[in-house]
Order: sequence, then C-alpha cells, then structure tokens
Amino acid sequence: MNTEILRPTSPADFERAAQLIRSGELVAFPTETVYGLGANGLDAASCRHIYEAKGRPSDNPLILHIADLAMAQEAVCAVPPTAAHLLTVFAPGPLTVILPKAAHIPDIVTGGLSTVGVRCPDHDIARRFIRTAGVPIAAPSANTSGRPSPTTAATVYADMAGRIPLILDGGSCRLGVESTIVDCTEEGIVTILRPGAVTREMIAAELPHIEVRMDAVLTAADEAPRAPGMKYTHYAPRVPLTVYVGTDVAAALREEILRRTAAGERTAVIASNETLTVLCGIVSAAHTYNCGARGNHSALASCLYDALRRFDNMDVTSLLAEGTGETGLGLAIMNRLRKASGGDVRFV
Ligand code: AMP
Ligand code: MG
Repeated sequence: MNTEILRPTSPADFERAAQLIRSGELVAFPTETVYGLGANGLDAASCRHIYEAKGRPSDNPLILHIADLAMAQEAVCAVPPTAAHLLTVFAPGPLTVILPKAAHIPDIVTGGLSTVGVRCPDHDIARRFIRTAGVPIAAPSANTSGRPSPTTAATVYADMAGRIPLILDGGSCRLGVESTIVDCTEEGIVTILRPGAVTREMIAAELPHIEVRMDAVLTAADEAPRAPGMKYTHYAPRVPLTVYVGTDVAAALREEILRRTAAGERTAVIASNETLTVLCGIVSAAHTYNCGARGNHSALASCLYDALRRFDNMDVTSLLAEGTGETGLGLAIMNRLRKASGGDVRFV
C-alpha cells in the first residue's frame, strides 16, 4: 500500500480523508498532543485495523475523538456533573474523560470495558477531519506499539509507511505528550489514569469539593521495577535509556559518560542547555539533543519524543537523559521517561 502525506487545506482534501474513514480505512491525523491513528469509531472492523497496523494488544482501549460536545453525548450513557464541568473548562484540549459507554460503541474500542474515553482535540485540522467524517474517530497514538509517540508527519511515516493510505500533515504537535486521562465514572472522585498537559493542579483547582486521585496502577508502574520481568516498555527508544534527576545531574552525567566511553560504549545525551554546556568536550554535538532551558517543561514536552527517536539510526549503544521535577507538566514528562527507560531513573 502506498502511504500519502497530505497537508489538507481545501474541502476536497478533508472529504478525501473522510471518505477513507467511511470506507473502513485508517487515516493518521495531527492533534495538539501527538498524531493519532484514526478509524471509524462506530465500526468494529475498521477499529481492528488499528491494532494490526500498530501491532498493539487488542485489550488496550482506544480514545474516541469528537468534534464537539454534542458528539461526546452520543458516545456515552450519561455525563455526570464533574465530567461536564471538566469538559466545559478543558475541551477542546488535552483532556480525555472516561465515562460509561453508549450501547452502540463497539467492544473493540473499549477493550471490552463498559467505559469509553472521549476527547475533543484543540486542533483545527483534527476537528475539521472528524466533523467531515461525521463519526467519532477512534484513535491511539500513530506509532508502532511500544515506541515513542509521533509528533510530526515524518515520524508517523517512519512507523506506518505501507500500512495506511493517508497521513494528514499538520506540522509539529504543539504540546508533544498525550492527553491527561481522567476517570469520571465514580461519584465524588476523579482519578487521573495518565498525566498530561491538563495537570493535576489544574483539575484540583477546578474541582475544590472533589477528591482528585492518582490511579494505583499508574503509581505502581511509576516505581522502579522490582524484577526484570516487570519492566514496562512504552515510548521506548531502540537502545537502553537511563534517566537522571536531582540537584547535580550535570556532574553525574559527566561521570557516567566518561565511564561508559572508557568501557567502549557510544552514549548519546538528551539534556537541558545548562547541562549540555557542562558536558561540552566529553560528548560530541552529534550525540546530544538540547531540550531548551532547564525547568522549561513545555519546551521539554514538545521535543521529548523527537529526542527519544533522534538516535534511532545512529551508531549509539545507550542513551542518557536529564529528567525534571514532578510538578505541573513535569509529572507527565517523568511518567513518559519512567516508562521509556523501563524504570531506570536515578536520583543524584
Ligand atoms: P494511546 O493508545 O497511546 O492513545 O493511549 C490511549 C490510552 O487511553 C491507553 O493508555 C488506554 O489504556 C487509555 N484508555 C482508553 N480508553 C480507556 C478506558 N475506557 N478506560 C481506561 N483507560 C482507557
Ligand atoms: Mg500510545
């Protein structure tokens, strides 16, 4: 199959993408978080293609992308007051709410669960595409299962060439990490299942009388693995990644690079501008990725997956990355870095 990359502008461009969706095909599309791999969310056979194209286990549910709140209402049984409030404040935007699913949503979308995740992307191309298709678009991130999510049309192409007919090109994704997922099915509680750019602090500020929890599974997966078999691989680069956080990251990285180089390893480093200044001279520029000023979470989030893919085709045997503090967007960044490193996070 030939995979076309199209920068959609005219109604005919969107009609073409919509037509593919209506005929059961997959279309990758840009959002403000990452690129999605979309299918008709009301059609089980179309959604099955997503799992094949990604090589993804089919018990892992998909998110339904909607063009407006009326479309969300059709996909769920009820919108409780907390979910309604969050959607009023944060939609369109990087927030997915989990609600009881409507009967006509196929099981393949929800991984057999009685709940469904819905999200309205804050991206003109995405919403125009969904509106033209006229159905909710079921979509995970448009990467091969386990790999870093794509934030450009070119990275979608790297993973999906020959597997899908069309990639809508919207340039680089503004935010760079996947949406915050909140479970709103329990009365009086919202549970964050995945941290994102709608932060825990932002949600708590909107819901002062509601308990905002972090999911137990998420916290467990965020701990260092207790045995090698428990390693969780997601967002993973091709070579092993080790993450450093703390007050003296530059010195710790310096020591580690020297040690690895002496042992014959070729290590690349993903770090802040400040840290790379210290490392200049012991690691070549080609083996570094500059994520901007230290503590600038939005700069780090928007380049994180590009950084994790940058050294894919280079002669590199391991990766080192500088982490960050876990407040605000930092929580989402560290959640992805923990998973990308299989829990290999060192505090220095
Ligand atoms: P991705 O496939 O990379 O876009 O991520 C989608 C995420 O949404 C996965 O982590 C899913 O497990 C999660 N998700 C989607 N629907 C549900 C649901 N009904 N309940 C819990 N998690 C969900
Ligand atoms: Mg994903």
